[in-house]
Amino acid sequence: MAALAAKKSQIRLNDALTTLPGIGEKLSAALAAKNVESIQDLLFFIPRKYQDYSQVLEIVKLKPGQVTIQAHLNNIKTRRVRRGLAITEAIASDASGSVRIVWFNQPYRQTSLKSDVDYYLSGTFKLSNRHLSIINPMTELVSDTVLNTARIIPTYSESKTLSSWTVRRAVAAALPLASSLKDYLPNYIIKKLALLGLAQAIKQIHFPDSASELAKAKKRFQFDELFPQLLANELSKLERQKEVALKVDFKLELAKTFVEKLPFKLTDDQRRVIWQIYQDMGSDLPMNRMVEGDVGSGKTVVAVMSALMAMAEGYKVAFMAPTELLARQHAKTIANLLKPLGWDNHLVILTGGMKTAAKKEAIKTADALNGALVVGTHSLLTSGVDWSKLALLIIDEQHRFGVDQRMALQKQAHHLPHFLSITATPIPRSLALTIFNDLDISRLKQMPSGRRAITSELIAPSDQVKLWKTLNDELKAGRQFYVVCPYIHPTEKGDQVGAETIYEEYSKRFKQYKVGLIHGQLNALEQASVMEDFVNHKLDILVATTIIEVGVDVANASVMVVYGPERYGLAQLHQLRGRVGRGQYQSYCFIVLSDSLGPPLRLRQFVNLNDGFALSELDLTLRGPGAIYGKLQHGKGFARLLTLDDHELITQVKSAVQLFIDKKEPLAKYKNLAEAVAAAQQMTYLN
Ligand code: ADP
Ligand code: MG
Repeated sequence: MAALAAKKSQIRLNDALTTLPGIGEKLSAALAAKNVESIQDLLFFIPRKYQDYSQVLEIVKLKPGQVTIQAHLNNIKTRRVRRGLAITEAIASDASGSVRIVWFNQPYRQTSLKSDVDYYLSGTFKLSNRHLSIINPMTELVSDTVLNTARIIPTYSESKTLSSWTVRRAVAAALPLASSLKDYLPNYIIKKLALLGLAQAIKQIHFPDSASELAKAKKRFQFDELFPQLLANELSKLERQKEVALKVDFKLELAKTFVEKLPFKLTDDQRRVIWQIYQDMGSDLPMNRMVEGDVGSGKTVVAVMSALMAMAEGYKVAFMAPTELLARQHAKTIANLLKPLGWDNHLVILTGGMKTAAKKEAIKTADALNGALVVGTHSLLTSGVDWSKLALLIIDEQHRFGVDQRMALQKQAHHLPHFLSITATPIPRSLALTIFNDLDISRLKQMPSGRRAITSELIAPSDQVKLWKTLNDELKAGRQFYVVCPYIHPTEKGDQVGAETIYEEYSKRFKQYKVGLIHGQLNALEQASVMEDFVNHKLDILVATTIIEVGVDVANASVMVVYGPERYGLAQLHQLRGRVGRGQYQSYCFIVLSDSLGPPLRLRQFVNLNDGFALSELDLTLRGPGAIYGKLQHGKGFARLLTLDDHELITQVKSAVQLFIDKKEPLAKYKNLAEAVAAAQQMTYLN
């Protein structure tokens, strides 16, 4: 006993699961598949749901439903009814009476159960073979430490190799270590809001003593899913308010001239958003704004008008695109927009792939100009451009919200630039309001007039006539198309949606046309060259993985074919669809289903919804805020219990944030909290 206690004290939270008594390689592997690798992970493996078996009833008082009794077992016998079905029966008796127990296909019950001891049995009391019986009950010897019976019982995310009762056993083995978890919340917050302490919350979330303790535990975890994020927002906001950005005056005549010389009329939404940005930039409080708008909604011109005002003030603007190709594409578009005003010679392109001499020249030009717009990629951060007059940083469709980029440029500029991020994947409204209350969001909901809606259709594997006909017709008419697959190689299961397989199939089927293949295993240069070939119509068909998702603009491409659609989120599918319909041609998006089981609801809804904002709300409804927030946190997993409609909770979290801020303690004093806050600041886009 003493030896065991000593051993236990040496086990640490970060240790592998196999260090716990009773957890072997098999169980540990099954849990690892759920991203549960350490003891700490296991403690935070929150149940999906619960069943309340806590009330132990006298047998005479049983009513149909989920019941628990405390009883002796007699007459245990097993019969094989037919191949593959064994029925084990027993009679359970307590002082009040007897009841029939039935287990299906659990013949081991025959030998594992004893007839002279007291058991708890928890199961469903219902009619079976015309007798009221308790069906498939879980069985445990009566004690104070039951896991599977006579209590509120947790159900976990299961798999073929992982059942809830094995998880319960594992969690029970880990639970004594919960007390060594350091609570990351300051004590005064726990006290003030009457929250459960972390260790207590962990115990109660797995094995609740009562429904009310369970509610408290859930609340504690919901609190924890919001608090670091809202604290992070508030701290960033305070930091930002201390900074002074370069003030950009609004110049009416310049704006007017620019608008007059545009080849089109701005939409009302574009006007409204540009006005918001001008107001933000007119203050020395650094702007923190995101412009959301569907592909084709005209975000570029909004960005250019913002940049123009800063340039006219003699300041610099940095415009960052996710890839070199996109940077070059943007530069071309921007040059066209600036040309009528004679401002296009203030545009400088600077990418990592440029030759050293060309780079040097570009930097020299940027630094010599009175007002410059520097378009490039990540490499702008380390380019050596003099950023001391950087007024505005614009980031287009990048995978981060720009925190790192802003900080890197802030260091070089010695002030914080105004920040504008533009994206085609909107954050659902309620999530944005709660989780990103520090970010000002502008939405371009209106599409420029004259756009044709993309026709989206589901294609069953058994009926692809329409697909092949449309593709042939489009190729004959001189169009190009994309084919997107979820992976490069076919997976083991033998499905046919690997890009290489599809590439071969399309090469055979469309022999007289040129087919290209692009994926992440090609190096950047190879990728760029395939992409350029498609842009220049040296390729008719481009088979790709999702690396073509962001930004690529080929007006002549009129069809997007997507394989393995169940592998993508709605936002991602919408992004893919947005690769076509960018020119004057009627365009199509074909979603090729992987099986004939009938399309899932979300795909049926997808083909009927062309609006990215509506899709993002649908996504929120279908998957819940936790899944989407988890995605934004990029790999930080699910915020399982996150809720956005519990206003009381949100108010409490906000008051806790205020409490913390008012104390004026350094965040670093709370190491775990500081880590959570830092993670919360690293948001990614929803792609
Ligand atoms: P995105 O929002 O996807 O970045 P772009 O800025 O690339 O969209 O705009 C898509 C196309 O629409 C461009 O060719 C652009 O010139 C054009 N455009 C932008 N605004 C308007 C408008 N108000 N009316 C007509 N065409 C517009
Ligand atoms: Mg764009």
